[in-house]
Amino acid sequence: MSPSVIPYGRQDIRDEDVTAVEAVLRSDWLTQGPAVPRFEAAVAARCGATHAVAANSATSSLHLACLALGLKSGDRLWTTPNTFVASANCGRYCGAALDFVDIDRDSLNLDPVALATKLEQAEKTDCLPRIVVAVDFAGQSCDMTAIRALADRYGFRVIEDASHAIGARYLSEPVGNGRHADITVFSFHPVKIITTGEGGMALCNDAGLAERMARLRGHGIQRDAAAQAAHGAWYYEQVELGFNYRMTDMQAALGGSQLARLDEYIAARRRLADRYDRLLADLPLKTPWRDPDADSAWHLYVIRLDAAALAKPGRRAVFERLRAAGIGVNVHYIPVHLQPDYRRLGFAPGHCPVAEDYYTRALTLPLYPGLTEAEQDRVVEALREALA
Ligand SMILES: *Cc1c(COP(=O)(O)O)cnc(C)c1O
Repeated sequence: MSPSVIPYGRQDIRDEDVTAVEAVLRSDWLTQGPAVPRFEAAVAARCGATHAVAANSATSSLHLACLALGLKSGDRLWTTPNTFVASANCGRYCGAALDFVDIDRDSLNLDPVALATKLEQAEKTDCLPRIVVAVDFAGQSCDMTAIRALADRYGFRVIEDASHAIGARYLSEPVGNGRHADITVFSFHPVKIITTGEGGMALCNDAGLAERMARLRGHGIQRDAAAQAAHGAWYYEQVELGFNYRMTDMQAALGGSQLARLDEYIAARRRLADRYDRLLADLPLKTPWRDPDADSAWHLYVIRLDAAALAKPGRRAVFERLRAAGIGVNVHYIPVHLQPDYRRLGFAPGHCPVAEDYYTRALTLPLYPGLTEAEQDRVVEALREALA
């Protein structure tokens, strides 16, 4: 009998989630009803932000954030290579030129020292970025204090791609509170911390930015009370070119129901991460670095193979042995600038050496709230055998 496959990530859906979605299905509104604003208000309150704008994916939210911050053709957007492609693609949707800042060896997040060096050079050649997208890799906040200080000095705006990090804390405050970033984005894809099936949200403390994102989410249309009084109650105006990036009420109801268990999810993930640390202590690998300033949401548990294990049996063999044993390991991330579509723009190996070296060693182990200790033991045993 072959044991079941343990995935690297998995949603947790309970009866109350089904009930919440069913209630919407039986209501008058499947979209543009009350569930979306209710979910937006709940996430904003939970994270300590004044405004939240839901969308049909975090990819859409990132695009809306770039547009609201005025990113346009001829501008520059910088981000980290150690992320999902969406963190970079949002800039290209707006016609901006992309560049990548290497990561810190410990945190695996965008390195503020590398950023400072690059900004210094860019200032001399008048090539400063308009936006920097900082990604909270694996659920652990970036060094947002340092990034904010550089933003204030060089005049760029900060989008925090916290797709991995709802429920995380930085300097004892919730990620998403807008103290450091201009706009923070969450993803609700099923492998992330909480899910809406597909979905995303952008948080900020600026009414103007929130209004602009909400308008662009709905075709660039606005319904203005004064204009309706003049023309009639049917009247609306498209004042700029927008999109249909709306979240449905079914999705929002699921999200709201999931949000009520956010603390429970983070606690379960942290407990399993701590347990991995102990169980893996004697193996030829590095367990995740712990930032004293940040409480991770533990979206991912990433190990890095030591040089000996890299040489023999090698990362690929370890990966394949684990997959053959039914362990859904994964690799996060292939450096974005090495994707063929980015190489076509001129990027090549050597552009971000720390991220490129990290990529050759990385392996993501299964981690999700429903992972049992017995399953976790199976992962560790399989890893031990794969490394032997
Ligand atoms: C998942 C993810 C996204 C995209 O999220 P979607 O909701 O799937 O569009 C963006 N950035 C990062 C870092 C992610 O992990």
